[in-house]
Amino acid sequence: MEAPNSFKTLKADLLSGKYSTVDLVDYYLSRIHAFDGEIQSILTITDEIAFKKAKKADALIKKLKAKAFAEYPLLGVVVGYKDMFLKDGVRTTAGSRVLNGYVAQYSATAVEKLETAGAITIAKLNQDAWAHGASGENSDFFITKNPYDKARVAGGSSSGSAAAVASDFCLIALGTDTGGSVRQPASFTNLVGLKPTYGAISRWGVIAMSSSLDTVGVIGKNIADVKQTYDVLKGEDGHDSNVRLQTKSFDPGKKVTIGIPKEFFAERLDPEVKTKVEEVINTYQQMGHKIINISLPHTKYGISVYYIIQPAEVSSNLARYDGVRYGKDRLAFGSEAKRRIMLGSFVLSAGHYDAYYLKAMKVRNLIKMELEKAYEKVDVILAPVSPTPAFKIGEKQGDPISMYLSDIFTVTANLTGTPSVAIPGGFSKSGLPIGFQLMGPRFSEDLLFNLGQKYQAQTDWHTRKAVL
Ligand code: GLN
Repeated sequence: MEAPNSFKTLKADLLSGKYSTVDLVDYYLSRIHAFDGEIQSILTITDEIAFKKAKKADALIKKLKAKAFAEYPLLGVVVGYKDMFLKDGVRTTAGSRVLNGYVAQYSATAVEKLETAGAITIAKLNQDAWAHGASGENSDFFITKNPYDKARVAGGSSSGSAAAVASDFCLIALGTDTGGSVRQPASFTNLVGLKPTYGAISRWGVIAMSSSLDTVGVIGKNIADVKQTYDVLKGEDGHDSNVRLQTKSFDPGKKVTIGIPKEFFAERLDPEVKTKVEEVINTYQQMGHKIINISLPHTKYGISVYYIIQPAEVSSNLARYDGVRYGKDRLAFGSEAKRRIMLGSFVLSAGHYDAYYLKAMKVRNLIKMELEKAYEKVDVILAPVSPTPAFKIGEKQGDPISMYLSDIFTVTANLTGTPSVAIPGGFSKSGLPIGFQLMGPRFSEDLLFNLGQKYQAQTDWHTRKAVL
């Protein structure tokens, strides 16, 4: 048996009886047992839940045939999700020892929506503790390896989500993206990663990290699967007052104007990443889209602004783990969480609030206005995801600033609440995946998917698999 590479193949295989959903769960579990000892992408396996759901799916397919898939758009899709998402009755840690042994009392809306749509949840996935990190090395449990080179990180903080999909332990995974944590690991592992518009998907039941930046994201093998999952996840649930879905229509056949921000191609960019992204730009140009150079001068302050606002919000959100309400052992906070709590408390303190927090909020607004202005001229923006391909385990660990700079190209979308999709754009000479991102105005997800799909139709990068 071979793992399906798309929802489309999965549906065809299940309908033709090539395998049943129960067979599929068995197959994924056998891969997990064979390979996850080394990859270390999983924190909790929920095989009982998976088999129960799989049996139901098989019965539905037997009874309703193709109609079952119309009624349940994710029928038989095996998913994993980052340990930030609560699941009723299941251990939930956010990658931190502080929550070790914590069992959730209710389920996140995102997880529930997937299951209601017929998906089968198989595992809770490793991550940087509290989603602080860009490499997975801040997990309090273990370091997830990159399936394309096990001496390298899978990216972060949704390290397990990316590695599990790239290792065929599941077909799709949920992550969270606060500063790049879905797009960067997706781009390190040859996958598609969606960071949606802020307020498109409910965060009910997702452990809060930085509330004005956090989004629920999706990592999958191709654009169509990610879009289909997004369509299931989006919209109000009555629990997250930030969710206000809007639709932005567009002409799917129209040639668009793509902006290339010169600041994203400056000195920090690895030459191989630059070449790959330039090749992507050429591909779009050859398809007849208009490429124009733009400038976003304030985005260079993005990382500084992010590392003021984000820790400020972290210091407030983590205050609840005081050992009285949640968290058995608040002394178990790792050094990165401590660094952020201290930084956040500092920038919010009476003597420093104006100089840091307020200033950062003002610059955040400038970045937002600058981007809005750019979108008056261009339909979308194309940029690298990360300055380098996946780096070696340990390479940046002693140097928080260099780790923080991994997100230099991704934080803009979070600071402005706009969507961005990371898409596989090829491989480096040494075989490491390199992604690019398409960014657009608020609620332009469908346009980004449409353009991403057009690129995917011209290339076959996304079909290449890691050899475990
Ligand atoms: N790497 C960034 C950080 O450490 C982003 C994290 C995220 O998006 N969750 O904060």
